[in-house]
Amino acid sequence: MQYDLIIKNGLVILESGETYTDIAIKNGKIAAIGPNLVQADEIIDANGLIVSPGMVDIHVHISEPGGVRHEWEGYITGTKACAKGGVTTFVEMPLNQLPATTSGETLRTKYAAGEGKLYVDVASYGGLVPYNLTNNGIAEQVEEGVAAFKCFMATCGDPNLDGDFANVNDYALWEGMRQIAKTGKVLAIHAENAAITDILGQQAKARGESKLSQYVATRPAFTEIEAIRRAIFFAKQTGCPIHICHVACPEGVEEVIKARQEGINVTCETCIHYLYFTTDQLDAIGPIAKCSPPIRDQQAQEGLWKYLFAGHIITAVSDHSPCTYDLKDKANAFDAWGGISGVQNNVDIMFDEAVQKRGMSLKQFADIIAKNPAERYNLPTKGSIQVGKDADIIFIKPHSSYVLKEQDLEYRNKFSPYVGRQIGAQVVQTLLRGKTIYQINAGINSTPRGEFIRR
Ligand SMILES: [Zn+2]
Repeated sequence: MQYDLIIKNGLVILESGETYTDIAIKNGKIAAIGPNLVQADEIIDANGLIVSPGMVDIHVHISEPGGVRHEWEGYITGTKACAKGGVTTFVEMPLNQLPATTSGETLRTKYAAGEGKLYVDVASYGGLVPYNLTNNGIAEQVEEGVAAFKCFMATCGDPNLDGDFANVNDYALWEGMRQIAKTGKVLAIHAENAAITDILGQQAKARGESKLSQYVATRPAFTEIEAIRRAIFFAKQTGCPIHICHVACPEGVEEVIKARQEGINVTCETCIHYLYFTTDQLDAIGPIAKCSPPIRDQQAQEGLWKYLFAGHIITAVSDHSPCTYDLKDKANAFDAWGGISGVQNNVDIMFDEAVQKRGMSLKQFADIIAKNPAERYNLPTKGSIQVGKDADIIFIKPHSSYVLKEQDLEYRNKFSPYVGRQIGAQVVQTLLRGKTIYQINAGINSTPRGEFIRR
């Protein structure tokens, strides 16, 4: 057999664990794995490199089409950042674009906006909002191929913008779960108590508070835990599989653990910024590190790491949620947009923080960044290095540290709380379906080879 490409001499992370072996690729798929493979048009020598499945990041926001938010992030800039950072597939959130993705028509509008602009593969969330429950919105989005659904329990969206996303009330959450349960999809939930966090925020601002650490105090852990409990309770009533987004406190994970022991179909993720930053660092960084739920204290972070290692948190995501700099450049942190730009450096940071600094096995690292999220959202061609799967493969150079600079960022808006940080490992090459889309010396391949994944 003449292969298109053979990867030799690398330490390859397979589903069973890491081993030195060769990988052969034909027509974009992994065609063979084993020693001494020969006969290919191209050979990549991966000597000294870790060969990993590309990251499947199930929490990324691109604001295209964006309306008033069109400058926040685009498909070209966002997916180039992914190519450079080793994220070969992401699942795109249904909000921040305008119109928000909440119907068959808005989903088609989104696909059209990304046509010919994708450097990596992109699957989509459908939106669950109070206004798409009586007009067939959920079923239409399933027909158009969404991988999963997303809703907000915290306040979100601009009620003055036509077609913007909106958070669910309890009725819409319950009725939405009833409808989604019939589709076989998972509902991902931003779980924070809207009423309490809104009023605590207003009270703090009225008192003249302005620091990011003071913003954190207006979203205490119990407001997250309560919402997670309520979501789980509704999931139990409706039979809807759910996934709790960006859990920022260990007590939130404990709710998920208890529910799973009861047989409820629930999983959770955390974000890499919760595993990296702590509240005491935030006032020095400023609003570019503002997000919700907020970045909590050292004890919370240690709890998240414990549950990540124990397998109770299935994946660590970027929640890449960019905006323009003026929306971050506020004297009062309460006035700044909440969202962190991080997708480009997350594989590097996870490898450094989890594998190099905390001793995570390579197998668990690959499970967390790729296999678990691909399985949870039923993306069968993604998530691992296995014969028959898409050859979405990244090469990580371990113990190769760099200091992140703004000019290295591919984002439309080149800022990130990771700028200036020393990161101890680096993705040096990325393959998407067998083609090199990024190589550290050559840069990003100019051909956008990514595709929308329609399930
Ligand atoms: Zn998000």
